[in-house]
Amino acid sequence: MAKSLSPVCKLCRREGEKLYLKGERCFTPKCSFEKRSFAPGQHGRTAGKGGSASGTGRASDFARQLRAKQKARRVYGVLERQFRRYYDKAIVGRGLTGLNLLQILESRLDNIVFRLGYASSRAQARALVSHGHFFVNGRRADVPSMLLSAGDQITIKETSNKLAYFKDLSAYAEKRNVPGWLNRDLKAMNASVARMPERVEIDGTLDEQLIVEYYSRR
Ligand code: SF4
Repeated sequence: MAKSLSPVCKLCRREGEKLYLKGERCFTPKCSFEKRSFAPGQHGRTAGKGGSASGTGRASDFARQLRAKQKARRVYGVLERQFRRYYDKAIVGRGLTGLNLLQILESRLDNIVFRLGYASSRAQARALVSHGHFFVNGRRADVPSMLLSAGDQITIKETSNKLAYFKDLSAYAEKRNVPGWLNRDLKAMNASVARMPERVEIDGTLDEQLIVEYYSRR
């Protein structure tokens, strides 16, 4: 499984905002963005958000489009080639390309495990999926990028339920709100996809229009 090797907190500093990539730690004073909110690198303190190296000028349209795309990639933990594939899939789908793209990203198995409150971050969800702890529609599913559709059922492997992590999971998951497009039964420890998410149910700080503009000009 390909994954980004960039130190995670640097990604937040590069985007100039907290992306909440490390789960619980992001909500504590240990969050490195709280201490160093400037971009990484030699000119980090003077570089403006969006690529203005001097920090004095306004970011160009291209720089804003690039940053919007990079931010979405980083939030969902997707590498460039795969992100481009998702975009190509979004173009041929019905409706708005930008919304299609966000729905594809949301329908990844690792994202759904995270949204269900089974993991504190998408990175942790990715690791849990890779280790084979989940079944989709009764079949082992260990590919984090697997795309789910309405009606798909997610269950936890029976033997995994005996592990300390999963024994304590319902107490943790209870505190996490589940979006309306997913169903979760914590007693039975199973869940399902009710429908695809609407735009208001997806991170409002993501700018899909800029992402579409970024790929349209290439
Ligand atoms: Fe970003 Fe979380 Fe690291 Fe803070 S702790 S910089 S929010 S990944």
